[in-house]
Amino acid sequence: MPLAQRAIRKIESIIREEMDGVGGQEIDMPLVHPAELWKETGRWQQLAGKELLTFKDRNEREFVLAMTHEESLTDLVRNEINSYKQLPAILYQIKLKFRDEPRPRGGLIRVREFTMKDAYSLHTSYEDLDRCYDEIYQAYLRIFKRCGLDVVVVQSDPGMIGGKMAHEFMLVTPSGEDRLILCSNCDYTANADIAVMRKIQVDNGPPKPIERVATPGKKTIEAVAQFLNVPKTQTLKAVFYSNGREVFFVGIRGDLEVNETKLKNALKEPDLWIAGEEELKSYGIVPGYASPVGVEGMKVILDDSVAQTTNLVAGANEEGYHLKNVNYPRDFRADIVTDIALAREGDACVRCGSPLKEVNGIEVGNIFKLGTKYSEAMNATFLDRDGKRKYIIMGCYGIGVGRLLASIVEAWHDEDGIIFPITVAPYQFHLLFIGRDEEVISQAERIYEEMSSKGYEVLYDDRDESPGVKFKDADLLGMPIRIAVSRRTLKEGAIEVKLRAERKAELVKLDRFDPDIYIERAKKIMEEGYGRKNTGSS
Ligand SMILES: [Zn+2]
Repeated sequence: MPLAQRAIRKIESIIREEMDGVGGQEIDMPLVHPAELWKETGRWQQLAGKELLTFKDRNEREFVLAMTHEESLTDLVRNEINSYKQLPAILYQIKLKFRDEPRPRGGLIRVREFTMKDAYSLHTSYEDLDRCYDEIYQAYLRIFKRCGLDVVVVQSDPGMIGGKMAHEFMLVTPSGEDRLILCSNCDYTANADIAVMRKIQVDNGPPKPIERVATPGKKTIEAVAQFLNVPKTQTLKAVFYSNGREVFFVGIRGDLEVNETKLKNALKEPDLWIAGEEELKSYGIVPGYASPVGVEGMKVILDDSVAQTTNLVAGANEEGYHLKNVNYPRDFRADIVTDIALAREGDACVRCGSPLKEVNGIEVGNIFKLGTKYSEAMNATFLDRDGKRKYIIMGCYGIGVGRLLASIVEAWHDEDGIIFPITVAPYQFHLLFIGRDEEVISQAERIYEEMSSKGYEVLYDDRDESPGVKFKDADLLGMPIRIAVSRRTLKEGAIEVKLRAERKAELVKLDRFDPDIYIERAKKIMEEGYGRKNTGSS
Protein backbone atom coordinates (compact mmCIF):
# COMPACT_ATOMS: atom_id res chain seq x y z
CA MET A 1 0.00 0.00 0.00
CA PRO A 2 1.18 3.58 -0.60
CA LEU A 3 2.62 4.36 2.85
CA ALA A 4 4.47 1.06 3.17
CA GLN A 5 5.78 1.49 -0.35
CA ARG A 6 7.34 4.83 0.63
CA ALA A 7 8.93 3.23 3.71
CA ILE A 8 10.28 0.41 1.58
CA ARG A 9 11.85 2.85 -0.87
CA LYS A 10 13.70 4.47 2.02
CA ILE A 11 14.86 1.11 3.39
CA GLU A 12 16.10 0.20 -0.08
CA SER A 13 18.06 3.41 -0.43
CA ILE A 14 19.76 2.81 2.93
CA ILE A 15 20.67 -0.69 1.73
CA ARG A 16 21.99 0.68 -1.59
CA GLU A 17 24.13 3.31 0.12
CA GLU A 18 25.74 0.78 2.44
CA MET A 19 26.26 -1.86 -0.24
CA ASP A 20 27.77 0.71 -2.61
CA GLY A 21 29.87 1.91 0.33
CA VAL A 22 31.67 -1.45 0.55
CA GLY A 23 32.22 -1.60 -3.19
CA GLY A 24 29.01 -3.31 -4.29
CA GLN A 25 27.66 -2.86 -7.81
CA GLU A 26 23.96 -3.21 -8.52
CA ILE A 27 22.78 -5.61 -11.21
CA ASP A 28 19.46 -7.15 -12.22
CA MET A 29 19.04 -10.88 -12.79
CA PRO A 30 15.99 -12.72 -14.15
CA LEU A 31 13.18 -14.01 -11.97
CA VAL A 32 12.53 -16.98 -14.29
CA HIS A 33 15.43 -19.41 -14.71
CA PRO A 34 15.84 -22.42 -16.98
CA ALA A 35 15.67 -25.63 -14.94
CA GLU A 36 19.08 -26.69 -16.31
CA LEU A 37 20.88 -24.20 -14.06
CA TRP A 38 19.25 -25.65 -10.97
CA LYS A 39 19.95 -29.18 -12.16
CA GLU A 40 23.65 -28.37 -12.48
CA THR A 41 23.91 -27.62 -8.75
CA GLY A 42 21.57 -30.41 -7.69
CA ARG A 43 19.13 -28.04 -6.08
CA TRP A 44 16.44 -28.94 -8.62
CA GLN A 45 16.59 -32.54 -7.37
CA GLN A 46 16.51 -31.30 -3.78
CA LEU A 47 13.86 -28.57 -3.96
CA ALA A 48 11.70 -28.87 -7.10
CA GLY A 49 8.06 -29.34 -6.19
CA LYS A 50 8.80 -28.23 -2.63
CA GLU A 51 9.97 -24.64 -1.96
CA LEU A 52 11.03 -24.32 -5.58
CA LEU A 53 8.08 -23.60 -7.87
CA THR A 54 8.52 -25.11 -11.33
CA PHE A 55 6.58 -24.80 -14.55
CA LYS A 56 6.84 -25.37 -18.30
CA ASP A 57 6.64 -22.86 -21.10
CA ARG A 58 4.71 -23.37 -24.37
CA ASN A 59 7.59 -25.41 -25.79
CA GLU A 60 7.52 -27.79 -22.83
CA ARG A 61 10.81 -26.45 -21.49
CA GLU A 62 11.14 -26.54 -17.71
CA PHE A 63 11.62 -23.36 -15.70
CA VAL A 64 11.69 -22.25 -12.07
CA LEU A 65 10.59 -19.09 -10.31
CA ALA A 66 13.77 -18.06 -8.52
CA MET A 67 13.76 -18.35 -4.73
CA THR A 68 17.43 -17.33 -4.58
CA HIS A 69 19.94 -16.39 -7.26
CA GLU A 70 23.15 -18.35 -6.65
CA GLU A 71 22.69 -20.35 -9.86
CA SER A 72 21.85 -17.33 -11.97
CA LEU A 73 24.75 -15.33 -10.56
CA THR A 74 27.22 -18.18 -11.05
CA ASP A 75 26.01 -18.57 -14.63
CA LEU A 76 26.57 -14.85 -15.15
CA VAL A 77 30.10 -14.79 -13.75
CA ARG A 78 31.29 -17.92 -15.52
CA ASN A 79 30.58 -16.06 -18.74
CA GLU A 80 31.89 -12.66 -17.66
CA ILE A 81 34.84 -13.36 -15.38
CA ASN A 82 37.97 -14.93 -16.71
CA SER A 83 40.98 -13.46 -14.92
CA TYR A 84 42.10 -12.69 -11.37
CA LYS A 85 42.36 -9.10 -12.58
CA GLN A 86 38.56 -8.87 -12.55
CA LEU A 87 38.41 -9.91 -8.88
CA PRO A 88 37.32 -9.27 -6.18
CA ALA A 89 33.82 -8.07 -6.95
CA ILE A 90 30.55 -7.60 -5.09
CA LEU A 91 27.37 -7.78 -7.17
CA TYR A 92 23.91 -7.21 -5.72
CA GLN A 93 20.31 -6.71 -6.68
CA ILE A 94 17.06 -5.80 -4.98
CA LYS A 95 14.71 -8.25 -6.58
CA LEU A 96 11.45 -10.11 -6.32
CA LYS A 97 11.71 -13.76 -5.32
CA PHE A 98 9.23 -16.58 -4.99
CA ARG A 99 9.29 -19.39 -2.47
CA ASP A 100 6.53 -21.96 -2.32
CA GLU A 101 6.24 -21.45 1.41
CA PRO A 102 4.10 -24.15 3.08
CA ARG A 103 3.09 -21.91 5.98
CA PRO A 104 2.87 -18.23 5.05
CA ARG A 105 2.20 -16.12 8.14
CA GLY A 106 2.62 -12.88 10.01
CA GLY A 107 1.86 -10.29 7.33
CA LEU A 108 5.17 -9.59 5.64
CA ILE A 109 7.22 -11.87 7.91
CA ARG A 110 6.81 -15.09 5.96
CA VAL A 111 5.32 -14.74 2.51
CA ARG A 112 5.59 -16.60 -0.76
CA GLU A 113 6.43 -13.57 -2.89
CA PHE A 114 8.98 -11.16 -1.46
CA THR A 115 11.66 -8.65 -2.33
CA MET A 116 15.19 -9.36 -1.24
CA LYS A 117 18.47 -7.62 -1.48
CA ASP A 118 20.83 -10.40 -2.42
CA ALA A 119 24.54 -9.77 -2.82
CA TYR A 120 27.32 -12.07 -4.00
CA SER A 121 31.02 -11.59 -3.46
CA LEU A 122 33.65 -13.17 -5.72
CA HIS A 123 37.24 -13.85 -4.68
CA THR A 124 40.54 -15.40 -5.64
CA SER A 125 41.31 -16.58 -2.09
CA TYR A 126 39.64 -17.52 1.19
CA GLU A 127 41.54 -14.73 2.97
CA ASP A 128 39.91 -12.23 0.66
CA LEU A 129 36.48 -13.80 1.24
CA ASP A 130 37.05 -13.47 5.02
CA ARG A 131 37.96 -9.79 4.64
CA CYS A 132 34.90 -9.07 2.51
CA TYR A 133 32.59 -11.10 4.76
CA ASP A 134 33.67 -8.99 7.73
CA GLU A 135 33.16 -5.75 5.80
CA ILE A 136 29.65 -6.73 4.75
CA TYR A 137 28.94 -7.93 8.29
CA GLN A 138 29.77 -4.39 9.48
CA ALA A 139 27.74 -2.83 6.65
CA TYR A 140 24.76 -4.94 7.74
CA LEU A 141 25.07 -3.66 11.29
CA ARG A 142 24.99 -0.11 9.89
CA ILE A 143 21.96 -0.86 7.71
CA PHE A 144 19.93 -2.21 10.61
CA LYS A 145 21.00 0.58 12.92
CA ARG A 146 20.01 3.18 10.33
CA CYS A 147 16.63 1.46 10.04
CA GLY A 148 16.19 1.75 13.80
CA LEU A 149 16.78 -1.90 14.61
CA ASP A 150 18.93 -3.29 17.38
CA VAL A 151 19.93 -6.71 16.08
CA VAL A 152 21.65 -9.70 17.57
CA VAL A 153 24.05 -11.59 15.30
CA VAL A 154 24.02 -15.35 15.68
CA GLN A 155 25.88 -18.23 14.09
CA SER A 156 23.51 -20.22 11.96
CA ASP A 157 23.02 -23.34 9.90
CA PRO A 158 23.99 -22.79 6.24
CA GLY A 159 21.02 -25.07 5.41
CA MET A 160 19.96 -25.42 1.80
CA ILE A 161 22.15 -22.51 0.64
CA GLY A 162 25.18 -24.52 1.69
CA GLY A 163 28.67 -23.35 2.50
CA LYS A 164 31.09 -23.22 5.37
CA MET A 165 29.98 -20.45 7.70
CA ALA A 166 26.84 -18.42 8.16
CA HIS A 167 25.49 -15.71 10.42
CA GLU A 168 21.97 -14.41 10.91
CA PHE A 169 20.96 -10.93 11.99
CA MET A 170 18.03 -11.21 14.35
CA LEU A 171 15.55 -8.87 15.91
CA VAL A 172 14.83 -10.31 19.34
CA THR A 173 11.05 -10.25 19.84
CA PRO A 174 8.56 -12.64 21.44
CA SER A 175 6.65 -12.88 18.15
CA GLY A 176 9.69 -14.15 16.23
CA GLU A 177 9.59 -17.71 14.96
CA ASP A 178 13.32 -18.40 15.16
CA ARG A 179 14.73 -19.60 18.47
CA LEU A 180 18.03 -18.12 19.61
CA ILE A 181 20.41 -19.21 22.30
CA LEU A 182 22.35 -16.42 24.04
CA CYS A 183 24.82 -16.72 26.88
CA SER A 184 23.84 -14.70 29.95
CA ASN A 185 27.49 -13.84 30.54
CA CYS A 186 29.73 -13.95 27.46
CA ASP A 187 29.07 -13.11 23.80
CA TYR A 188 28.17 -16.64 22.69
CA THR A 189 25.07 -16.46 20.47
CA ALA A 190 23.68 -19.03 18.04
CA ASN A 191 20.53 -20.06 16.31
CA ALA A 192 19.00 -22.83 18.41
CA ASP A 193 19.26 -25.04 15.30
CA ILE A 194 23.02 -25.26 15.72
CA ALA A 195 23.66 -24.00 19.27
CA VAL A 196 26.01 -26.11 21.37
CA MET A 197 26.22 -26.35 25.13
CA ARG A 198 28.36 -27.91 27.80
CA LYS A 199 26.68 -31.20 28.71
CA ILE A 200 26.50 -32.40 32.29
CA GLN A 201 29.38 -34.79 32.98
CA VAL A 202 28.45 -37.80 35.04
CA ASP A 203 30.69 -40.45 36.50
CA ASN A 204 28.96 -43.80 36.84
CA GLY A 205 32.23 -45.65 37.40
CA PRO A 206 33.77 -48.35 35.21
CA PRO A 207 31.47 -50.53 33.06
CA LYS A 208 29.56 -53.19 34.98
CA PRO A 209 27.95 -56.33 33.57
CA ILE A 210 24.62 -55.91 31.81
CA GLU A 211 21.58 -56.71 33.92
CA ARG A 212 18.04 -57.33 32.66
CA VAL A 213 15.37 -55.83 34.93
CA ALA A 214 11.57 -55.92 34.84
CA THR A 215 9.99 -52.49 34.30
CA PRO A 216 6.33 -53.30 33.70
CA GLY A 217 4.39 -50.43 32.08
CA LYS A 218 7.36 -48.03 32.30
CA LYS A 219 7.67 -46.69 28.78
CA THR A 220 9.00 -43.16 29.26
CA ILE A 221 12.39 -41.97 30.47
CA GLU A 222 10.73 -40.27 33.45
CA ALA A 223 8.85 -43.41 34.46
CA VAL A 224 11.86 -45.70 34.08
CA ALA A 225 14.25 -43.35 35.90
CA GLN A 226 11.82 -43.00 38.78
CA PHE A 227 11.06 -46.73 38.94
CA LEU A 228 14.74 -47.73 38.96
CA ASN A 229 15.72 -44.76 41.10
CA VAL A 230 18.40 -43.43 38.73
CA PRO A 231 18.86 -39.87 37.43
CA LYS A 232 17.80 -39.19 33.82
CA THR A 233 21.49 -38.63 33.04
CA GLN A 234 21.91 -42.37 33.55
CA THR A 235 19.37 -43.38 30.94
CA LEU A 236 19.56 -43.84 27.18
CA LYS A 237 16.68 -42.50 25.16
CA ALA A 238 15.97 -44.16 21.81
CA VAL A 239 14.26 -42.07 19.14
CA PHE A 240 13.51 -43.28 15.63
CA TYR A 241 13.50 -41.12 12.53
CA SER A 242 12.42 -42.01 9.02
CA ASN A 243 13.11 -40.57 5.59
CA GLY A 244 10.34 -42.68 4.05
CA ARG A 245 12.80 -45.31 2.80
CA GLU A 246 14.70 -46.29 5.92
CA VAL A 247 14.55 -45.81 9.68
CA PHE A 248 17.40 -44.40 11.76
CA PHE A 249 18.11 -45.31 15.37
CA VAL A 250 18.95 -42.15 17.30
CA GLY A 251 20.37 -42.57 20.80
CA ILE A 252 20.75 -39.71 23.26
CA ARG A 253 21.11 -39.46 27.02
CA GLY A 254 17.75 -39.24 28.80
CA ASP A 255 18.33 -35.71 30.14
CA LEU A 256 18.75 -34.34 26.61
CA GLU A 257 16.54 -33.75 23.57
CA VAL A 258 17.39 -34.37 19.90
CA ASN A 259 18.08 -31.31 17.75
CA GLU A 260 16.59 -32.25 14.38
CA THR A 261 18.72 -29.81 12.39
CA LYS A 262 21.92 -31.25 13.82
CA LEU A 263 20.56 -34.74 13.19
CA LYS A 264 19.71 -33.97 9.55
CA ASN A 265 23.15 -32.44 8.99
CA ALA A 266 24.96 -35.36 10.62
CA LEU A 267 23.03 -37.91 8.56
CA LYS A 268 23.05 -35.70 5.41
CA GLU A 269 19.30 -36.31 5.19
CA PRO A 270 17.36 -33.10 4.48
CA ASP A 271 13.96 -34.68 5.23
CA LEU A 272 13.45 -36.68 8.41
CA TRP A 273 10.48 -37.21 10.66
CA ILE A 274 9.63 -39.32 13.69
CA ALA A 275 9.06 -42.88 12.45
CA GLY A 276 5.58 -44.39 12.82
CA GLU A 277 4.82 -47.46 14.98
CA GLU A 278 4.10 -49.64 11.93
CA GLU A 279 7.51 -48.80 10.47
CA LEU A 280 9.17 -49.67 13.79
CA LYS A 281 7.39 -53.01 14.02
CA SER A 282 8.70 -53.95 10.57
CA TYR A 283 12.21 -53.61 12.07
CA GLY A 284 11.24 -55.68 15.10
CA ILE A 285 11.37 -52.71 17.48
CA VAL A 286 9.23 -52.78 20.63
CA PRO A 287 8.02 -49.20 21.19
CA GLY A 288 8.74 -47.90 24.68
CA TYR A 289 11.37 -50.60 25.21
CA ALA A 290 13.63 -50.05 22.19
CA SER A 291 17.27 -50.92 22.66
CA PRO A 292 20.46 -50.20 20.77
CA VAL A 293 21.70 -53.58 21.97
CA GLY A 294 21.18 -56.08 19.19
CA VAL A 295 19.65 -53.58 16.79
CA GLU A 296 20.03 -54.70 13.21
CA GLY A 297 19.43 -53.40 9.71
CA MET A 298 19.38 -49.83 10.87
CA LYS A 299 21.84 -46.95 10.80
CA VAL A 300 22.67 -45.97 14.40
CA ILE A 301 23.57 -42.40 15.33
CA LEU A 302 24.49 -41.50 18.90
CA ASP A 303 24.81 -38.24 20.70
CA ASP A 304 28.30 -38.02 22.19
CA SER A 305 26.71 -37.91 25.66
CA VAL A 306 25.86 -41.60 25.26
CA ALA A 307 29.39 -42.53 24.26
CA GLN A 308 30.83 -40.58 27.21
CA THR A 309 28.57 -41.99 29.93
CA THR A 310 28.94 -45.48 31.38
CA ASN A 311 26.38 -47.89 32.82
CA LEU A 312 23.26 -46.47 31.20
CA VAL A 313 19.75 -47.83 31.49
CA ALA A 314 18.33 -48.72 28.05
CA GLY A 315 15.38 -50.65 26.73
CA ALA A 316 15.70 -54.46 26.40
CA ASN A 317 13.64 -54.52 23.18
CA GLU A 318 11.19 -56.71 25.05
CA GLU A 319 7.84 -55.59 26.45
CA GLY A 320 8.20 -54.79 30.18
CA TYR A 321 12.01 -55.03 30.44
CA HIS A 322 15.01 -52.71 30.50
CA LEU A 323 18.76 -53.30 30.61
CA LYS A 324 21.03 -51.78 33.25
CA ASN A 325 24.74 -51.07 32.72
CA VAL A 326 24.63 -50.66 28.96
CA ASN A 327 27.98 -49.39 27.67
CA TYR A 328 29.17 -48.09 24.32
CA PRO A 329 31.06 -49.49 22.45
CA ARG A 330 31.12 -52.72 24.47
CA ASP A 331 27.45 -53.61 24.01
CA PHE A 332 26.42 -52.03 20.73
CA ARG A 333 27.74 -50.38 17.60
CA ALA A 334 27.10 -46.96 16.10
CA ASP A 335 27.64 -45.56 12.61
CA ILE A 336 27.97 -41.96 13.79
CA VAL A 337 28.83 -40.48 17.18
CA THR A 338 28.52 -36.71 17.32
CA ASP A 339 26.69 -33.82 18.99
CA ILE A 340 23.00 -33.92 18.10
CA ALA A 341 21.61 -32.44 21.33
CA LEU A 342 19.33 -29.44 21.59
CA ALA A 343 20.65 -26.52 23.65
CA ARG A 344 17.98 -25.16 25.98
CA GLU A 345 17.41 -22.34 28.44
CA GLY A 346 19.46 -22.96 31.57
CA ASP A 347 22.03 -25.27 29.93
CA ALA A 348 25.67 -24.32 30.47
CA CYS A 349 27.43 -22.10 27.92
CA VAL A 350 30.04 -24.01 25.95
CA ARG A 351 32.54 -21.15 26.36
CA CYS A 352 32.09 -19.96 29.93
CA GLY A 353 29.68 -22.34 31.65
CA SER A 354 27.14 -19.63 32.54
CA PRO A 355 23.44 -20.38 32.02
CA LEU A 356 22.12 -19.98 28.47
CA LYS A 357 19.02 -17.93 27.69
CA GLU A 358 16.52 -18.80 25.03
CA VAL A 359 14.72 -16.01 23.17
CA ASN A 360 12.68 -15.68 20.00
CA GLY A 361 13.76 -13.63 17.03
CA ILE A 362 12.91 -12.58 13.50
CA GLU A 363 15.70 -13.12 10.98
CA VAL A 364 16.16 -9.86 9.07
CA GLY A 365 19.40 -10.71 7.28
CA ASN A 366 21.85 -13.50 6.68
CA ILE A 367 25.35 -13.93 5.32
CA PHE A 368 27.07 -17.09 4.08
CA LYS A 369 30.57 -18.12 3.13
CA LEU A 370 29.73 -20.30 0.15
CA GLY A 371 33.29 -21.15 -0.78
CA THR A 372 33.35 -23.03 -4.09
CA LYS A 373 30.07 -24.94 -3.72
CA TYR A 374 28.44 -23.20 -6.70
CA SER A 375 31.53 -22.41 -8.75
CA GLU A 376 32.57 -26.08 -8.68
CA ALA A 377 29.09 -27.35 -9.53
CA MET A 378 28.78 -24.91 -12.45
CA ASN A 379 32.44 -24.68 -13.43
CA ALA A 380 32.93 -20.96 -12.81
CA THR A 381 36.68 -20.45 -12.92
CA PHE A 382 39.29 -17.74 -13.30
CA LEU A 383 42.86 -17.72 -14.52
CA ASP A 384 45.04 -16.93 -11.52
CA ARG A 385 48.31 -14.98 -11.32
CA ASP A 386 50.24 -18.27 -11.46
CA GLY A 387 48.62 -19.20 -14.81
CA LYS A 388 46.40 -21.88 -13.24
CA ARG A 389 42.66 -22.08 -13.63
CA LYS A 390 40.84 -22.07 -10.26
CA TYR A 391 37.30 -22.02 -8.96
CA ILE A 392 35.92 -18.62 -7.95
CA ILE A 393 35.43 -18.40 -4.16
CA MET A 394 32.06 -16.93 -3.24
CA GLY A 395 30.02 -15.41 -0.43
CA CYS A 396 26.36 -14.46 -0.43
CA TYR A 397 24.43 -11.95 1.63
CA GLY A 398 20.65 -11.46 1.94
CA ILE A 399 18.22 -9.00 3.45
CA GLY A 400 14.45 -9.44 3.16
CA VAL A 401 13.13 -5.94 2.52
CA GLY A 402 9.44 -6.46 3.36
CA ARG A 403 10.34 -8.51 6.40
CA LEU A 404 12.67 -5.74 7.51
CA LEU A 405 9.77 -3.26 7.36
CA ALA A 406 7.58 -5.66 9.36
CA SER A 407 10.38 -6.03 11.93
CA ILE A 408 10.73 -2.26 12.25
CA VAL A 409 7.02 -2.01 13.02
CA GLU A 410 7.39 -4.91 15.46
CA ALA A 411 10.10 -3.03 17.35
CA TRP A 412 8.55 0.42 17.01
CA HIS A 413 4.94 0.48 18.04
CA ASP A 414 2.70 1.00 21.04
CA GLU A 415 -0.97 0.23 21.74
CA ASP A 416 -2.04 3.12 19.46
CA GLY A 417 -0.05 2.19 16.38
CA ILE A 418 3.29 2.54 14.64
CA ILE A 419 6.08 4.88 15.82
CA PHE A 420 8.19 5.07 12.65
CA PRO A 421 11.93 5.76 13.05
CA ILE A 422 12.39 8.95 11.06
CA THR A 423 14.91 7.41 8.66
CA VAL A 424 12.33 5.03 7.22
CA ALA A 425 9.07 6.88 7.95
CA PRO A 426 6.86 7.24 4.87
CA TYR A 427 6.66 10.96 5.70
CA GLN A 428 8.50 13.01 8.31
CA PHE A 429 5.45 15.08 9.24
CA HIS A 430 1.75 14.45 9.67
CA LEU A 431 -0.21 17.68 9.28
CA LEU A 432 -3.87 17.99 10.23
CA PHE A 433 -6.39 20.69 10.96
CA ILE A 434 -9.37 20.62 13.30
CA GLY A 435 -12.81 21.93 12.38
CA ARG A 436 -14.02 23.60 9.17
CA ASP A 437 -12.99 27.15 10.05
CA GLU A 438 -11.77 28.79 6.83
CA GLU A 439 -8.90 30.60 8.53
CA VAL A 440 -7.74 27.31 10.05
CA ILE A 441 -7.90 25.47 6.73
CA SER A 442 -6.07 28.18 4.81
CA GLN A 443 -3.29 28.26 7.45
CA ALA A 444 -2.94 24.48 7.17
CA GLU A 445 -2.82 24.72 3.37
CA ARG A 446 -0.17 27.41 3.61
CA ILE A 447 1.98 25.33 6.00
CA TYR A 448 1.65 22.32 3.71
CA GLU A 449 2.65 24.29 0.59
CA GLU A 450 5.54 25.99 2.31
CA MET A 451 7.00 22.88 3.92
CA SER A 452 6.57 20.79 0.77
CA SER A 453 8.25 23.45 -1.36
CA LYS A 454 11.25 23.33 1.00
CA GLY A 455 11.54 19.58 0.54
CA TYR A 456 10.00 18.38 3.82
CA GLU A 457 7.86 15.29 3.52
CA VAL A 458 4.38 16.08 4.78
CA LEU A 459 1.39 13.77 4.92
CA TYR A 460 -1.55 16.18 4.92
CA ASP A 461 -4.85 15.00 6.40
CA ASP A 462 -7.34 17.38 4.77
CA ARG A 463 -10.33 15.11 5.34
CA ASP A 464 -13.55 16.42 6.81
CA GLU A 465 -13.34 14.18 9.87
CA SER A 466 -13.70 14.67 13.61
CA PRO A 467 -10.59 15.55 15.67
CA GLY A 468 -10.84 12.16 17.37
CA VAL A 469 -10.61 10.29 14.07
CA LYS A 470 -7.76 12.43 12.77
CA PHE A 471 -5.62 12.12 15.93
CA LYS A 472 -6.29 8.40 16.15
CA ASP A 473 -5.22 7.87 12.54
CA ALA A 474 -2.10 9.99 13.07
CA ASP A 475 -1.11 7.74 15.97
CA LEU A 476 -1.95 4.61 14.02
CA LEU A 477 0.08 5.55 10.94
CA GLY A 478 3.00 6.69 13.05
CA MET A 479 4.72 9.58 11.24
CA PRO A 480 7.37 10.87 13.65
CA ILE A 481 6.19 14.50 13.93
CA ARG A 482 2.57 15.63 14.11
CA ILE A 483 1.46 19.21 13.42
CA ALA A 484 -2.09 20.24 14.34
CA VAL A 485 -3.76 23.53 13.43
CA SER A 486 -6.98 24.65 15.12
CA ARG A 487 -8.84 27.79 16.08
CA ARG A 488 -7.43 27.39 19.59
CA THR A 489 -3.79 27.28 18.41
CA LEU A 490 -4.26 30.14 15.93
CA LYS A 491 -5.66 32.31 18.71
CA GLU A 492 -2.12 32.14 20.13
CA GLY A 493 -0.63 32.61 16.64
CA ALA A 494 0.68 29.06 16.98
CA ILE A 495 0.50 25.44 15.89
CA GLU A 496 0.63 22.33 18.04
CA VAL A 497 3.67 20.09 17.45
CA LYS A 498 4.03 16.63 18.92
CA LEU A 499 6.52 13.84 18.44
CA ARG A 500 4.84 10.46 18.01
CA ALA A 501 7.27 8.87 20.47
CA GLU A 502 6.55 11.43 23.17
CA ARG A 503 3.47 12.06 25.28
CA LYS A 504 3.45 15.86 25.43
CA ALA A 505 2.51 18.26 22.66
CA GLU A 506 3.80 21.85 22.55
CA LEU A 507 2.46 25.08 21.16
CA VAL A 508 4.93 26.74 18.78
CA LYS A 509 4.51 30.27 17.41
CA LEU A 510 4.00 30.12 13.66
CA ASP A 511 6.91 32.45 12.93
CA ARG A 512 9.21 30.51 15.27
CA PHE A 513 8.51 27.01 13.87
CA ASP A 514 11.66 25.31 12.58
CA PRO A 515 10.97 21.79 11.20
CA ASP A 516 14.67 20.89 11.41
CA ILE A 517 14.65 21.09 15.19
CA TYR A 518 11.96 18.42 15.32
CA ILE A 519 13.67 16.25 12.74
CA GLU A 520 16.79 16.35 14.89
CA ARG A 521 14.78 15.40 17.97
CA ALA A 522 13.14 12.52 16.10
CA LYS A 523 16.58 11.29 15.00
CA LYS A 524 17.80 11.39 18.56
CA ILE A 525 14.83 9.37 19.77
CA MET A 526 15.63 6.79 17.16
CA GLU A 527 19.33 6.57 17.98
CA GLU A 528 18.73 6.32 21.70
CA GLY A 529 15.86 3.90 21.66
CA TYR A 530 16.19 1.85 18.56
CA GLY A 531 14.55 -1.48 18.75
CA ARG A 532 14.75 -1.75 22.51
CA LYS A 533 11.34 -0.41 23.29
CA ASN A 534 9.45 -3.63 22.79
CA THR A 535 12.11 -6.26 22.55
CA GLY A 536 13.42 -6.12 26.08
CA SER A 537 17.01 -6.55 24.90
CA SER A 538 19.46 -4.43 26.80
ZN1 LIG B 1 29.16 -17.89 27.89
